[in-house]
Amino acid sequence: MNISSVRNDFPILKQEVNEQTLVYLDNAATSQKPQIVIDAVSKYYETTNSNVHRGVHTLGSQATDMYEGAREKIREFINAAETAEIIYTRGTTAAINIVATSFGIANLSAEDEIVISPAEHHSNLIPWQQVARITGATLRYFELESDGTLSLEKAAAAINHRTKIVALAHASNVLGTINPIKEVAAMAHAEDAIIIVDGAQAVPHMSVDVQALDVDFYAFSGHKMMGPTGIGVLYGKRELLEEMEPVEFGGEMIDFVTLDDATWKELPWKFEAGTPIIAGAIGLGAAIDYLKELGMDTVAQHGEEIITYALEQLTAIEGLEIHGPIDPKKRTALISFNVSDIHPHDLSTVLDEQGIAIRAGHHCAQPLMKWLGASATARASFYVYNTKEEVDSLVKAIELTKEYFGYGEA
Ligand code: PMP
Repeated sequence: MNISSVRNDFPILKQEVNEQTLVYLDNAATSQKPQIVIDAVSKYYETTNSNVHRGVHTLGSQATDMYEGAREKIREFINAAETAEIIYTRGTTAAINIVATSFGIANLSAEDEIVISPAEHHSNLIPWQQVARITGATLRYFELESDGTLSLEKAAAAINHRTKIVALAHASNVLGTINPIKEVAAMAHAEDAIIIVDGAQAVPHMSVDVQALDVDFYAFSGHKMMGPTGIGVLYGKRELLEEMEPVEFGGEMIDFVTLDDATWKELPWKFEAGTPIIAGAIGLGAAIDYLKELGMDTVAQHGEEIITYALEQLTAIEGLEIHGPIDPKKRTALISFNVSDIHPHDLSTVLDEQGIAIRAGHHCAQPLMKWLGASATARASFYVYNTKEEVDSLVKAIELTKEYFGYGEA
C-alpha cells in the first residue's frame, strides 16, 4: 500500500489545525472520508436527488437503483446471504435498539438471562438494561481476564439454559480487544439463545463474514468506515427478522392500508419507515468500494503494523499506563492510556494545540472505566492513512505535556 497516495485521497488531512499539520488519531470516534465518498454524495445531490421506491420518473428510479445497489455492496462486503437481511439504520446504536425493542421485548420473560460484557459501549448496554427492566429478565455479565480479554472458559461459564440473548462487541472501543465471536455464537446456539454483535469497531478494520461467524444479528456504523454519518446497518438472519415486528411505522414500510389496519412490506423495507437516508447509503456504498480497492487484508495489516509500533513507542514512556492487552495480535488499531496524574482532558487539550486529535473521556463505557479503576482515559485510534511518523509526533507531544505538567525531564 502506498500510504502517501492513500493520504492524498483524504482532503481533510491536508489542512492545518492550530497552525500545525493535522494528526488525526480519533478514528474510533469517526473516520475521515476519501474524496470518492464526498463526490458520491455531492454527485447524487447534483444529478440524481429524488425520493426512492415511489416515483416512476427517471431520477426516482435512478435514485432507487443507487440506494438498493449500495445495499448489495454491503451484503457482499459482510457476506450476508441476501439483501433482505441488510437493514439500513442511522448507525450501530439504532440497529441494536431495533433488536432490543422488537426481538428482546417480545421474546424475553422473567426467567431469562441476557449475557453481555462489562466492556460494552453504552449502545450495547442501555438497550439491554431497558429490555431487562421491561421484561423482568436478568442481565448477566461475562467475567473478563485482567487484561480485558474474554476467555472461552469465562464465556462458557456465563452462558446457560436461561440465556436468551448474548450481546457482545466484536472489538472494544476502549480496550481494542477482539472477542471470539464465532466460538461465543456456537455457545449461545447450543443453549438455543441468539447472539447480537456490535461490530462498530470491527467492520472498518477487518474482513467480517456474518455467515462464517454464524451470528444472528450484527450492527455497524458507516461513519467509522469512511462513509457518511447518519447511516448504519443491521444485519439479521431472515428467519428472525421475519418473525419480528417493526419498531417504526408510517410511509415506505407498509404494503396495504385501510382505516383500521395495515400490512407490512417484505424485508428489508418493513424496518425502514419514512424517507430513508438515501445519500448516506450511496456514500457508504462508495466507502465500501474504496475499502475493497485497498483490500481489507491490506487495511488489517496496516492496522497491525501501526498498533505494533504505537504499543512499542508508548510503552517506553515513563508513567504511561496502557489499558488492555499489550500483544498487538489481540487488538484492533486503538490504544487507551493514562499518563501519570495528568487528566486525559488536559492531555488532549495540550495535544490539540499541537494539531494532534485524540479522544479523552469515558468513551461511552462508564462501567468499563469503573472496571479499569479510571474516571477517564486518553485514546489514540488509527486508520489506514495514519503513519509511524504520526505516532512519533504523538509520543513527542506526550513527552512535552509531561514536562508542562511537571513530570519528567524539562
Ligand atoms: N459500539 C461501539 C463499540 C462504538 O465504538 C460505537 C461508537 N463510538 C458505537 C457502538 C455507537 O455507534 P454510533 O454512535 O455510530 O451509533
